[in-house]
Amino acid sequence: MFSMSTVMRNFEMSSQLQDMIRLVRSRQLAQALLISAKSDQQTDIVAKLARAMLCEETGGDNCRCRSCAAGVNSHPDYSECLPSPRTIGKEAVSAAVAGLASGPLWAPMKVVVFRPAEALSREAETFLLKHLEEPPPYVYYLLLTQNPEAIIATIRSRCQHWRFTAATADADGIDLWQQLQSEPLTTDRVEQAAYWVRQRYRQTQSLAWLRAWETVQDVYRQLEANGNEELARAQLLRVWPRR
Ligand SMILES: [Zn+2]
Repeated sequence: MFSMSTVMRNFEMSSQLQDMIRLVRSRQLAQALLISAKSDQQTDIVAKLARAMLCEETGGDNCRCRSCAAGVNSHPDYSECLPSPRTIGKEAVSAAVAGLASGPLWAPMKVVVFRPAEALSREAETFLLKHLEEPPPYVYYLLLTQNPEAIIATIRSRCQHWRFTAATADADGIDLWQQLQSEPLTTDRVEQAAYWVRQRYRQTQSLAWLRAWETVQDVYRQLEANGNEELARAQLLRVWPRR
């Protein structure tokens, strides 16, 4: 059975994914992508996005080019860096990067997926960071995570960040509300709040959510300028609409 929040989540997901695929086709997608999504969404996102990236023709759903016919998992220009058993170590990242030294065989680009990116060891993250900074022009890194806060800030800031998790379900809102009350108020968390609040405003058209959205943006600017975290938090909690 579909709940409304599931429907909204899928809608959000497909529209964001379509945005990404459009950017692939116009060659405007960043080469280092951090994708925040729940584990079950990640599979779908990777399958569709990687297919579009590897396609040799139109990228349409019915395309039967060599790359689309082969499928992502047996494509020579696609690789995945997975945990073994729990962490992705420096050696694994090094091996993945070594495979990127020569250009793509079939596709316009080479795609390497790190999943889940929060499994990267600190050493692996530091090693990967150097490669994210200056990738060969045909290399695209996809880092998938359920928990972007667990990834070092230097990697996060180097990646274009796409969020599929902060969608619209009430459960996400309750989580966010709890985090805003008790956890460190990082710019990343406030950015997530801004995204969520904006969705709420779009759905409800309520002035309370509009005011919250404006406040979240204001708080974000304050934190960026090293403003006082507790004052910012109080400001945010004061305007957050409660039901
Ligand atoms: Zn194709």
